[in-house]
Amino acid sequence: KAKQQGRNAFQVYTGDLDSKLSQRVTLRNELQEAIDRDQLVLHYQPLLDAHGRVDGLEALVRWRHPTKGFISPAEFIPVSEETGQIIPLSRWVMERACRDALGLVHDGLLKGRMAINLSPMQFHRPSFLATLRGVLEETRLPTRHLELELTEGILMKDTDGAIDILNALAGMGISTAIDDFGTGFSSLGYLRTLPIDKIKIDRSFVKDVTASDKDAAICQGVITLARELDLAVVAEGIETREQFEYLRAHGCEVFQGFLFARPMPLEALTEWLRAHRQVQRRS
Ligand code: C2E
Ligand code: MG
Ligand code: MG
Ligand code: MG
Repeated sequence: KAKQQGRNAFQVYTGDLDSKLSQRVTLRNELQEAIDRDQLVLHYQPLLDAHGRVDGLEALVRWRHPTKGFISPAEFIPVSEETGQIIPLSRWVMERACRDALGLVHDGLLKGRMAINLSPMQFHRPSFLATLRGVLEETRLPTRHLELELTEGILMKDTDGAIDILNALAGMGISTAIDDFGTGFSSLGYLRTLPIDKIKIDRSFVKDVTASDKDAAICQGVITLARELDLAVVAEGIETREQFEYLRAHGCEVFQGFLFARPMPLEALTEWLRAHRQVQRRS
């Protein structure tokens, strides 16, 4: 506590010299308010299979700032990692996402899994599994409706430790996906040893898949690799019909992107899922 206060004082004094730093201090203090005062919200984005059926959902956190509007997780997740605020924040995300998932399952609107993004600090904490079990007990979401998304960075940090956790998750019936696959510069050998279920091809490779031979080769390579290793494969960031059709023709199974649906708050998602179900029934 004393150390923390010391650091605060230091940052206040240098605030004028380094406005970036003082901005971060402000962000940190405001983030605490956001956590305490219900300013965080989850939006959900559907993932679709090649036939247009909903395969699952991904929970994406947003910060509804009182004056600045919606702030992207890309801005505040890294800060919250540095300050440790990611821990209460992540716990809130898990609980909210599991509760909402259960509601959707009960309404017959979710058959697949709700995917939650994990942060490195959260995953590598000794209490991670206990916290997760606590959330599952509290919310009563069956684990067959839960998926966790990890980045290559998380898995590279302490691979042996990560394998133990992944095995425990598999034993609980929770599926796991590697997010942003291809951006982490990690060796491919680890795919052989890690008990994971799914690979999500990063949006940066999908973006120009129909325009760049190199990006097309990378996407095809990842799809082939996934198939050989018996992993499911998802393409994220699908914005055009051409990207979708190309990737589907080359064996990709699941698709996520603005072409199909943007991340939405729960009420809008519920409407979207109902309408989508009607369209699917008619066709
Ligand atoms: P991600 O897990 O790779 O999530 C996908 C991101 O791509 C989301 O950005 C989503 O809104 C965006 N996206 C989806 N489809 C499209 C598309 O067709 N075009 C474009 N341009 N973008 C698309 P978002 O919501 O801003 O999240 C950014 C990142 O923040 C996420 O990347 C994830 O790494 C992190 N994040 C989000 N929520 C959480 C959370 O609850 N916990 C943790 N630890 N990280 C989170
Ligand atoms: Mg993700
Ligand atoms: Mg992703
Ligand atoms: Mg991404």
